Amino acid sequence: MAERMLQFTHLPQQTPEKREALERRADFEEIYKRFDVQSAKAQASRCSQCGIPFCSIHCPLSNNIPDWLKLTAEGRLEEAYELSSATNTFPEICGRICPQDRLCEGNCVIEKGFESVTIGAVERYITDTAFEQGWVKPIQPRHERAESVGIIGAGPAGLAAAEALRQQGYQVTVYDRHDRVGGLLIYGIPGFKLEKDIVLRRWKWLEEGGVKFVLNADIGGKISFAALRAQHGAVLVATGVYKPREIAAPGSGLPGIVPALDYLITSNRKSLGDAVPEFDSGKFNAAGKNVVVIGGGDTAMDCVRTAIRQGAKSVTCLYRRDKQNMPGSLREVANAEDEGVIFSWLAAPEAFLGDIGVTAVRAIKMHLGLPDASGRQSVEAIEGSSFTLPADLVIKALGFDPEDMPGAFNDPFLKLTAWGTLKTNPKTFETSLPGVFAAGDIVRGASLVVWAIRDGRDAAASIQQYFKAQSLSQAAE
Ligand code: FAD
Ligand code: SF4
Ligand code: SF4
Repeated sequence: MAERMLQFTHLPQQTPEKREALERRADFEEIYKRFDVQSAKAQASRCSQCGIPFCSIHCPLSNNIPDWLKLTAEGRLEEAYELSSATNTFPEICGRICPQDRLCEGNCVIEKGFESVTIGAVERYITDTAFEQGWVKPIQPRHERAESVGIIGAGPAGLAAAEALRQQGYQVTVYDRHDRVGGLLIYGIPGFKLEKDIVLRRWKWLEEGGVKFVLNADIGGKISFAALRAQHGAVLVATGVYKPREIAAPGSGLPGIVPALDYLITSNRKSLGDAVPEFDSGKFNAAGKNVVVIGGGDTAMDCVRTAIRQGAKSVTCLYRRDKQNMPGSLREVANAEDEGVIFSWLAAPEAFLGDIGVTAVRAIKMHLGLPDASGRQSVEAIEGSSFTLPADLVIKALGFDPEDMPGAFNDPFLKLTAWGTLKTNPKTFETSLPGVFAAGDIVRGASLVVWAIRDGRDAAASIQQYFKAQSLSQAAE
């Protein structure tokens, strides 16, 4: 091992080639190219094979990172794929969109003194290669089971659970109110971070493995929650969080002020080739406009970079804290800056100006005060520091809260937490309703794809235990 690994002392970190900002501003394709075989091997060989791998400890899926890095360095890619896919349902997706700087790579020990191993890029390379080589086989359960599971929501949590349950031979049907599978992977996250073909490929793979999909099916609307429960032995709720947070400022109802997710869904649909009247009418198209995006999270970063690609005249991101205190990934901020986005840090909207539509945002400068009980610094307006930004399109990206789930599902016994997320037993993922489980953002609040995958896998294991316990008690009767 030794001669192949531990190369970090003389081999510098090399991330996959990034397309030039000018070129990538013109399309929605991913901005990072893929490693070639030599770069993947060389970069994997930089790993020092830690006895206690902090990278794995800080990966929500506890991926066996040092081992698949070693196999990659040795050119044993098929084995690397087997190992990587044993703990992660969608390694090629996490490799692309995990905030690695905060998770695995940010905790790589060689980061101290040297630059970290490029774990995400290698993870992506392994599974992309596996698909190309035909190593990714459809799910083939050893035997079929009669019990069925209904999963509400085809996002990463629902899909990870579907895969794990189907592997065990359960009859799995996934319901989604959208017309395509993927949740935020397909309609939220833009193609320049995650190309749509990658998501569509997984949809096909799950169908080939026997997972059934019922789309355009709003549970609680077209199909009642009670009917779904009656139809399946167990139900998993993986519906995500979608209620946008609002801005309380004069003029916030003016035409031209739009919610972030509506804007991103429209853009993603356009990229997928759909007819999108709201885009063609100009309502959700930034072309030729002065655009102001309000917020500092991943959603705001995706909006500013989408607006650039649509040909906006100017794009400004208004965020009330500073760069160091923003929730979005710093890597994405750097990419946005390269692409021409202007950041107005420590600034918040005071009012939206205009008569028949928004024409400007009046904002005020903020400063960071003393930390509150949570340790986060408070923000306070600086009197007399107002300024005005021209704006024909304002995008609100202030985050999401859960919808009213008991109301939507017409079931008052579905218990919630103080934050409106579904209350579950943290060990079993079961909600207050027997046989109804929940996973992903609807339990955690807005989070990350990798956590949704983890929850989906864990909830699936728990559903399996539930069925086992049921058949034991039936046998005892
Ligand atoms: P979702 O992905 O939201 O999927 C839920 C699904 O349930 C949806 O398809 C929805 O249509 C369906 N549904 C909801 N209600 C019903 C109903 N009543 N009936 C039927 N179907 C229903 N995370 C990262 O790790 N990296 C990123 O770069 C990143 N970027 C992001 C960018 C944006 C714009 C957003 C909004 C989020 C981003 N995230 C990112 C967060 C990540 O996408 C989510 O944490 C993750 O998708 C949550 O997965 P989920 O399966 O719980 O829910
Ligand atoms: Fe890193 Fe995410 Fe992959 Fe885990 S799943 S190794 S955190 S990129
Ligand atoms: Fe390798 Fe870094 Fe993980 Fe150590 S922490 S095993 S060097 S990737």
